[in-house]
Amino acid sequence: MNYFSTRDSERKTPKTSAEVIKQGIADDGGLFLPESIPEISLDFIKEIGTLPYSERAAKILSLYLTDYTYDELLDCAKKAYDSGFGDFAAPVSSLIGDDLRVLELWHGPTCAFKDMALQIMPRLLSLALKKTGEERCAYILVATSGDTGKAALEGYKDVDSTKIMVFYPEDGVSDMQKMQMATQEGNNVCVTAIKGNFDDAQTGVKKIFADADAKEKLDKCGSFLSSANSINWGRLAPQIVYYISAYADLVNEGDITLGEKVDITVPTGNFGNIFAAFLAKKMGLPVNKFICASNSNNILTDFLTTGTYDRNRTFYTTMSPSMDILISSNLERLLYFIAGAEKTTKYMKELSEKGAYTVEEDVLSVIKSEFAAYCCNEEDCAKTISKTFDKYSYICDPHTAVAVKAALDFVNDENTGFKNIVASTASPYKFAADVLKSLGKEIPEDMKQVLDTLSEITKTEVPSPLATLFGKNVRFTKSVEKNHESLLGEVLAF
Ligand SMILES: *Cc1c(COP(=O)(O)O)cnc(C)c1O
Repeated sequence: MNYFSTRDSERKTPKTSAEVIKQGIADDGGLFLPESIPEISLDFIKEIGTLPYSERAAKILSLYLTDYTYDELLDCAKKAYDSGFGDFAAPVSSLIGDDLRVLELWHGPTCAFKDMALQIMPRLLSLALKKTGEERCAYILVATSGDTGKAALEGYKDVDSTKIMVFYPEDGVSDMQKMQMATQEGNNVCVTAIKGNFDDAQTGVKKIFADADAKEKLDKCGSFLSSANSINWGRLAPQIVYYISAYADLVNEGDITLGEKVDITVPTGNFGNIFAAFLAKKMGLPVNKFICASNSNNILTDFLTTGTYDRNRTFYTTMSPSMDILISSNLERLLYFIAGAEKTTKYMKELSEKGAYTVEEDVLSVIKSEFAAYCCNEEDCAKTISKTFDKYSYICDPHTAVAVKAALDFVNDENTGFKNIVASTASPYKFAADVLKSLGKEIPEDMKQVLDTLSEITKTEVPSPLATLFGKNVRFTKSVEKNHESLLGEVLAF
């Protein structure tokens, strides 16, 4: 299977999946997609449902990553999913009302859905280096506002031929997130705080990526810079798996019949997770509609309903920070599918020059036939957390709550009668203070007490990756100035 850039209209530069996983973004600035979408039958889906999660993943990934052997994929999947996710990596067990089903994607080592991709992607990258004859070590540089950094650290920890440095803003992440990163284990990891905000961290990392002199120095030491960014195909492909897996589980439980359609609701930021669901449908998963859920940063709600994407707007900081976004990079992949490479290139040029673009009527009508979109403000998010708990004794984090609200709004508006699979992207414990506040409770000063209070109220257990944090050694305490020299100094010294 060959891969092409979303901006390569003549399909001039085919790549293998190992090449695209190593490279990340295409040379023309576009994103990589497979030349065609493999099809799966209803029988395939049914059979998948009888297998452990790692085998489901290997089977589905083998349809896309054709330059990896099945055994290689199975080995990566087993290392990724067999021990770090509890009994089953992506359970779809809990029910909210008659129609909503919750697909929990946060049973991994950092309690957020990024683990689903970041536990396997580093292993795929490590193999990609071998397959492409790369002898240097992949040096992953990450600027993080919290969640991605920790998930990347856990994913790359002790993976062959890789090492990782994470920069985070000293005063820009929560105490819990700081603690999670400062206690990170592994022999190839380093974490550095910078005296500045997230933008300073991100700008600093971008400058290092653009510094030819730095690249040469790293090359001499036998490494090359690489990113763990969510536009990498190696992060997207593993996300297709859990939608097919969830559908198969619902069939096996007798909740739906094989072939019956479902709706899928996804709390969306960079559009990666929902686009993976879209690919699952293209492969043959019986899906009626995708419901794109946004918080107060509702640029996607506007785009999917009006056809105009306009980033010239206020940016809001919310209690669902992983969805606080003005540019949804993976939307480019959807545009490519619907409008083709030439138009996609034009939209992206307008976006970078004017900060806005508008798609044609016919493009919009295809988008609307596949996607519904809703947004939810902070007050409604908090209300949804408390109502869902009161009514169903189910406790959701703020990201998931945004999706639950969107799913309820959709059912209210369209009443399709289909079951609605709601992607739940973070453990409520990861955002315990905001969840307690939404339930109208006092928030204790002490971090551990916040977790214990939530545990008492909800009669659920604190997930072990968070519960065990408090006994761990603090390994990383360094904080540096935000200028290029000091960041680069850290990168070269590690
Ligand atoms: C990253 C993230 C999202 C957004 O996912 P996208 O693939 O970027 O749309 C939603 N919720 C949580 C908790 C996340 O970490």
